[in-house]
Amino acid sequence: MNISIIGTGYVGLVSGTCFAEMGNQVICVDNSPEKLAKLQNAEVTIYEPGLDIIFYRNIAKKRLEFTSDLKKAVLNTEVVFLCLPTPQGEDGSADLKYVLGVADSIGKILKENGNKDYKIIVNKSTVPVGTAQLVENEIKKHGAENFDIVSNPEFLREGFAVEDFMKPDRIVVGSDSKKALAVMKEVYEPFVRQGNPIIEMNTASSEVTKYAANSYLAMRITYMNELANFCEAVGADVDFVRRGMGTDNRIGKRFLFSGIGYGGSCFPKDVNALIKTSMDKGSEMSILTVVDKVNKAQKQVLYKKVEKHFGDLKGKHFAVWGLAFKPNTDDMREAPSVVIIKELLKAGATVSAYDPAAIETTRFYLKDSITYAENEYDTLKNAEALLIMTEWNEFRNPDFDKIKEMLKNPVIFDGRNIFQPEKIKELGFTYYSIGRRAV
Ligand code: NAD
Repeated sequence: MNISIIGTGYVGLVSGTCFAEMGNQVICVDNSPEKLAKLQNAEVTIYEPGLDIIFYRNIAKKRLEFTSDLKKAVLNTEVVFLCLPTPQGEDGSADLKYVLGVADSIGKILKENGNKDYKIIVNKSTVPVGTAQLVENEIKKHGAENFDIVSNPEFLREGFAVEDFMKPDRIVVGSDSKKALAVMKEVYEPFVRQGNPIIEMNTASSEVTKYAANSYLAMRITYMNELANFCEAVGADVDFVRRGMGTDNRIGKRFLFSGIGYGGSCFPKDVNALIKTSMDKGSEMSILTVVDKVNKAQKQVLYKKVEKHFGDLKGKHFAVWGLAFKPNTDDMREAPSVVIIKELLKAGATVSAYDPAAIETTRFYLKDSITYAENEYDTLKNAEALLIMTEWNEFRNPDFDKIKEMLKNPVIFDGRNIFQPEKIKELGFTYYSIGRRAV
């Protein structure tokens, strides 16, 4: 099948590459000249495990191409996936200017072409309920016809994006058109050969499903974070509590780890967008307002521990391991590390940081306000203490003797609970983590 992808970021690049891997002919469109130059030069523009191999293979097989030419992409493909940004607007709502702007252009292209070939326009961006209708109106206003709109939210996780796309738990497709749904089944059947479902529904339900899933996960993390703070206050250990509750089949084990708050390009904006839409529609989801508030407060927790331990932070230097909002990605959008580092800098401290993948993306947010180290140990020189902000695997079993030798004080603030408190104590460290007793 001929497929086009409009917007070649995290979702678009992974989707396009995986569709090509299944033998489809894929044209990816982007309007960023820098990004396009790299992609056309066969350079992967994001850090995503396993993506490079299939990216190179499909470019070599000439199944994957990159262009800025929207017209060429739309006219030469039957299914057009919109993988455009939907950032948070000033009032919390999802900003639809990219999605509707491209819909407007597609409308003109289809009309100019005499509405000759049937097209399916698929919304893969996360968009508020009712957007499929807005996209349809935007395309139709030019007199375009012979197309259908499908809502097909994407559930991939950064860091596991290729794995998730190739073997999804489920595919959600919303459309009122049987013809479009049949084509979507054809597109996705190779990805669900193990029997995971393609769930068909109306567009409104499909659009809500994405926000419902992300907001639920954000709520679950937030519950565990607030519970962790409570555990600290009463001498309990959230790790034990997590195991005690997660083994209940009704609850399940995943997404129960406490930390320094959720971040990333999805949860924060999607929670806020659902709050806004629910208020606009007169059916407020007030629980999510609390989730957002608690999450913002959680991003301060590690900083407050540092301040409590050291008092005045002016002139003090700190080592930071991990910057990305989670491991296996270079994505820094809404990363808790940025909030914590900015607090340290505001208090007059200095910071040296290392991340295996997110140094370049961090520069966009923190510029030259901190020192970027070549490796994790280089951060430790002259540092009062070590702060762990992302649970990269390579930080889990470090050379503790070296850490102790290099730090000015043997103190670790672990925002991701990656070490065992008793073991760290035995090694002679003062150790603070989240929801566990300081040792
Ligand atoms: P992104 O910012 O990484 O990528 C978007 C791309 O669109 C960029 O490369 C940008 O240059 C391009 N673009 C912008 N305007 C354009 C235009 N007019 N024409 C062509 N290209 C244009 O965003 P993303 O993380 O891939 O997210 C895309 C959508 O998918 C969002 O709605 C997001 O909420 C949703 N989503 C993201 C994830 C994730 O993990 N990142 C997961 C599921 C869903």
